[in-house]
Amino acid sequence: MGQEQSSYPIVTISRRGGERIRAGHVWVYRSDVVETASAAPGSVVLVQEQANATSNRPADRGVRATQILSDKHVRPRRTVPARPARILGTALYSSASEIALRMISRGPVEDIHQLVRERIRAAIAYRQGFVRDTNAYRVIFSEGDFLPGLIVDRYNDILSLQVLTQAMDAASLRDIFLEELKLAFQPRAIVERVDARVRKLERLEERESGVIWGEFTVETTVPTQAEENGAPLIHTQLSTEFQMNGVRFRFDALGGQKTGAFLDQRENYAAAAQYARGETLDVFCYQGGFALHLAEQSGKVTGVDSSRPALEIAEKNAALNGREIEWIEANAFDLLRDYSDAGNKYDCIVLDPPPFAKSRQNLRALKMLRPGGILVTCSCSYHVSAPDFMEIVAAAALDSHRIVRVLENRGQAKDHPSVLGISETAYLKCLILAVS
Ligand code: SAH
Repeated sequence: MGQEQSSYPIVTISRRGGERIRAGHVWVYRSDVVETASAAPGSVVLVQEQANATSNRPADRGVRATQILSDKHVRPRRTVPARPARILGTALYSSASEIALRMISRGPVEDIHQLVRERIRAAIAYRQGFVRDTNAYRVIFSEGDFLPGLIVDRYNDILSLQVLTQAMDAASLRDIFLEELKLAFQPRAIVERVDARVRKLERLEERESGVIWGEFTVETTVPTQAEENGAPLIHTQLSTEFQMNGVRFRFDALGGQKTGAFLDQRENYAAAAQYARGETLDVFCYQGGFALHLAEQSGKVTGVDSSRPALEIAEKNAALNGREIEWIEANAFDLLRDYSDAGNKYDCIVLDPPPFAKSRQNLRALKMLRPGGILVTCSCSYHVSAPDFMEIVAAAALDSHRIVRVLENRGQAKDHPSVLGISETAYLKCLILAVS
């Protein structure tokens, strides 16, 4: 261990926490932290698993008590054989999150700035190997790129950055992100998309989404009625156009409800497009990702979403691609029920609901498919595993008396890497099914 290493505070974690790390995970929950010593919010720390005999954590007590008891029975004068505390590696510490520690190395880290720099370069190089047919993709995917708490998306000439943890919010690290990203991409602008809820949970100071580097292109300046501190609020827009699989999309860097597009579906759009035909219904269509990809092979395409701003962009996207798509603003759950009651039939249905949604709509969609129809059904919640998702759809198939064959069993696009051992990094499921 190097000299610098000893300057990092040591955080002690329970045996249970240690087991998780030794099994390949990178998170330590607050409930597994035994002692944080003098660790400052967002600091780099050494992680130490506590010595065997000293546990007084409730979760460990049961095991220890039995061991001590039985040991005492056999050898009355001995307690559990002592195992010294051991260092598991280096982590980033959060004083607020339920995830108190995120491992960044299994060994010592001499220079965190250099490490982050190297990881950013490695993340960029990783994508160069296989991201094709697009100028929009995730450049850095937090734990998936061993940079926990940092997300960067590229939309053509604009980069969109999101910081999710105390450690990644440090000014010195932000400087490195900007430097490396500028060097690699020569972007027109870098924007930061702030998730106010996450910043609050991390007890980070409030921040506005906005341009953090580059061209502050103001395409339309709309002085609004509202005034703040006597000064008119100026609504600025920064936008660009990107393409994926030959389909064009508009990106409003500072508008919209999300960081832009659902880039994680990019490869699924292309896969689904191979099976598209006839009348198509894209449910939870957002800005039209599936609908636009399926339009070339389909007859009539209808997209449904409850968000008007999303549908406004969807319409712009359709125009960009010279497509006519019908967009319906509605509660999709109600609409599916009404359409299914009315006996509406489709050749292809896409279901890509928000993470909290129950999977009941699969049943309705199956009933609404013509024989030989295609169902594309997705789940983006990591709480639902791939096998569980398959079972949910299988149950719906049984209930709807349809025979369902799996054409493709897919996950998230490869620029959202999932790491074996960190189950949360694999979250998206996408089944493409032939329904007879
Ligand atoms: N398929 C899209 C992503 C869908 S994200 C794509 O590939 O880009 C989930 C979408 O569900 C969001 O656009 C959200 O506005 C929409 N949504 C959430 N609740 C809804 C509801 N009750 N009815 C209709 N749409 C809803």
